[in-house]
Amino acid sequence: MTNPLLQASDLPAFADIRPEHVTPALDELLPAAEAALEKAVGPDVPADYDALSAVLDVPLERLSRAWGAVGHLNAVANTPELRAAYNENLGRVTEFHTKLGADERLYAKYKAVATSPAAAALSAPRRRALSNAMRDFLLSGAELQGEAKARFAAIQELQAEKAQAFSEHVLDATDGYALTVTADRLAGVPDDILQATREAAAEKGDSGHRLSLHMPVWMPVMQYATDRALRENLYHAYVTRASEFGPPERDNSALMRELVELRQEEAGLLGYPSFADVSLVAKMAESPVQVMGFLRDLAARARPHAERDMAELRAFAAEHLALPDLQPWDLAYASEKLKEARYAFSEQEVKQYFTEPRVLEGLFRIVETLFEVRIRPDTAATWNDTVRFFRIERSPGDGQPPQLIGQFYLDAYARNGKRPGAWMDEVRGRWARPEGSLQTPVAQLVCNFASPVGDKPALLTHDDVITLFHEFGHGLHHMLTQVNDLAVAGISGVEWDAVELPSQFMENFCWEWEVLSRLTAHVDTGAPLPRELFDRMTAARNFQSGLQTLRQIEFALFDMRLHAERGASADVQKLLDEVRAEVAVVVPPAYNRFQHTFSHIFAGGYSAGYYSYKWAEVLSADAYAAFEESGLFDADTGRRYRREILEAGGSRPAIESFRAFRGREPRIDALLRHQGMVEERRA
Ligand code: ZN
Repeated sequence: MTNPLLQASDLPAFADIRPEHVTPALDELLPAAEAALEKAVGPDVPADYDALSAVLDVPLERLSRAWGAVGHLNAVANTPELRAAYNENLGRVTEFHTKLGADERLYAKYKAVATSPAAAALSAPRRRALSNAMRDFLLSGAELQGEAKARFAAIQELQAEKAQAFSEHVLDATDGYALTVTADRLAGVPDDILQATREAAAEKGDSGHRLSLHMPVWMPVMQYATDRALRENLYHAYVTRASEFGPPERDNSALMRELVELRQEEAGLLGYPSFADVSLVAKMAESPVQVMGFLRDLAARARPHAERDMAELRAFAAEHLALPDLQPWDLAYASEKLKEARYAFSEQEVKQYFTEPRVLEGLFRIVETLFEVRIRPDTAATWNDTVRFFRIERSPGDGQPPQLIGQFYLDAYARNGKRPGAWMDEVRGRWARPEGSLQTPVAQLVCNFASPVGDKPALLTHDDVITLFHEFGHGLHHMLTQVNDLAVAGISGVEWDAVELPSQFMENFCWEWEVLSRLTAHVDTGAPLPRELFDRMTAARNFQSGLQTLRQIEFALFDMRLHAERGASADVQKLLDEVRAEVAVVVPPAYNRFQHTFSHIFAGGYSAGYYSYKWAEVLSADAYAAFEESGLFDADTGRRYRREILEAGGSRPAIESFRAFRGREPRIDALLRHQGMVEERRA
């Protein structure tokens, strides 16, 4: 029997991979990777970039491609058997990679390569790949000795435990709350929520409606329930989760302090002044001071708009909702009513204009025009009949045959056994392989759109269209790269706070009349989107953008100061109060314990990194502004963007790519303008 996961073929044999192939494949691939590691660190392999790469990279890539295919199928074609096979092997794959990343012998070898005279002669992408590898070893504590090394390892373990406890407390505190109310208290709440909460009560043998703090229930109640006391009640419950106001076994107060202290201790061992400095080593932002300056600048500019948003909301609530003293538990409710009054249009109405074939065709045409490629249908084995496969080609001219640039799978529709959400993943990266062939990149684009019904094409919401463009932007970053070194080709090796540039960049096209008028055709009449409907969509886009921006800055500045300032963890509440006094337009009540559920920074990967959302938005908006300035489909701008951003991939620092494209440093203006935060000039 041949195992499809071990086939050396061009593309994964997705149609043939079965759960029973997983363990035997890893039984072969893992030992091969281990043997390669042992060989690479041994005396027979000289400290030379090519020699190391020839021994190590092929078996490692083979392992990651096979495991990548298994992980992909686990996400898009899940079965109990496949999940079991995946989970059975996850531990040993993770363990191998942890070991590889901390192997002192390998670190010593890389160090010898980096300090050898030959290193200076390496190509720029290779020097970048080597310095990234060295950096990652260093941040894993590779230079530490003796007691410091042991303490570093212990800190990692403690952090993982405490982060896990933090998120369990948030989960338990959220799950642990229920409030059963009679139907008359839910006046204004949409029918589907009424039905869901009635069923939840019935399940417990209760009559009435069982409310919870889970987003799909909590949010609509806060937005629509006319019962103000109920909203206040639910607000209080939500913002005091996992705090000292609840059961002590779920209180996150101590964990927050301990986590930050452990991170600061880690930073000290690595020789950095703070954990914020450690977090920024592998990011585009240069220092905590730079990040805080960026956030404060943005706050100052957003502030007048946030104040105006708030004044409008207050006036509307007083006049139309009989709420002269707007409270935090009224904000979502009043905002929803104001939005309805001002921009009423139905999602259902918009959807009729976005048929999937038309949208795809429009997207492809934009990409073909801007980046001088052709996208054509291609064939490959897939995991589902609805999955499509495409190839991207470029004609070199002079009557030469078209050249293959990359390929991608498009798995567009939601179905059972497929994880929700949308993402781009790599099947394989661009790579001049040690044996001499050039491997072209292949991507997965996965979305969860509603399937076509009957003989009509699938209809997309405007949000769906934005999602498709976003993921396609990641895909282009991966597929159009011209870098030949796997570790820094495409999105590989791109700094974490810059990786959303190409994806968010593409979203902008979904707000252009010039684009949408051609991207739309009513499913029954074929008519394009009416201009008047487009104008209402655009107006609604920036609803309360000032308030939303300040809220994000409040979180980001709190996160950065908490991890940058010595002793800030001693009184987390005091720090948050200070940040709010500086930034917020709406100051919440004293009992608000938002920080106790801020899992992004206490249990996720965003510690001293929450600013990244806004940071990448500035880059993508400013990059897009170059197209606004030159004309959306200007050939030179498109070529420059392709070469300097997409093709360069991770081969150099993101700021260098940005400067090469824009001819200057990033500026904040375009983001403010796109979000409606500019003062109108009147002639
Ligand atoms: Zn993204």
